[in-house]
Amino acid sequence: MKIVIKDIEVCAKCTAKRCSFINLASIERAFFNLSSETTICPTSAIGGSGPSEKSIEKRFIIAEKGTCCVECGLCVKHCSHQNLSIEDYNANTSAFGNLTGLQIKAVTSLYLNGLFGFAANTNRNNSLSFDGYVASEKGEEAFVEIDYKDDSLECVRRLLGDIIKYSDTHSIKNGIVVLSRFPQVGSRDVYNLLEKMKKFPTTNDISIYMTTFSHLRAIYLYMKPSTPYLFENLLYNPIKEDIYTYQKKVENLFTDITPSLFDEI
Ligand code: SF4
Ligand code: SF4
Repeated sequence: MKIVIKDIEVCAKCTAKRCSFINLASIERAFFNLSSETTICPTSAIGGSGPSEKSIEKRFIIAEKGTCCVECGLCVKHCSHQNLSIEDYNANTSAFGNLTGLQIKAVTSLYLNGLFGFAANTNRNNSLSFDGYVASEKGEEAFVEIDYKDDSLECVRRLLGDIIKYSDTHSIKNGIVVLSRFPQVGSRDVYNLLEKMKKFPTTNDISIYMTTFSHLRAIYLYMKPSTPYLFENLLYNPIKEDIYTYQKKVENLFTDITPSLFDEI
């Protein structure tokens, strides 16, 4: 996948540089005094002054020395002049494996922020136990766990711990797990744990949603603009549906579907 600059003159004259940096202070929330991310490009493939001169000459983003483009697409969605586009979209998000833990959490938080209204990367300074927090425009809240190595069972355990830990002061009943691939049924029994949770009075009202980096990126980049979405509209609920039903549900949200929008599941 390539990020293409449509008109080099537009970048040369642009003063906003929203591909690099945005001020999200206007949506800052009181919860834990968190603000959302403000740096757009996780790797500095686009630096603070927008695409480099070399990129502008070549008409597509070229990484600066020592950095690489991981094809997250965030710069495309944030460009204030719709001057960037995606060519040869590829569902493979394995380049995300080159990001540090903090970078991948920042990317994921920006996707969730774009989809639901507000999301913060709470692990920027490692002061909180969870990786992210989401507050949707529909009034839903969730803690987020992000694991490139796909330990879904540990993620769900951590989310349960956070929900219980903050239950005296915050009634948050949702958790979101973001992984590289969905867990296979029976894998380390994460599905068993989720089913057991539904049988216990203290956990039966908790909903755990899942998604993958490739699903999240595709939804973020290609979803039809619409009224605010609920978590259940965009995320996989392992207790209520299977992965194929989830995939079909999400595909219906796109204006222009291509078969290669998602990795094989
Ligand atoms: S990519 Fe968009 S926001 Fe960035 S410098 Fe070019 S026109 Fe401005
Ligand atoms: S696609 Fe992502 S990593 Fe690549 S230049 Fe844009 S923001 Fe940076």
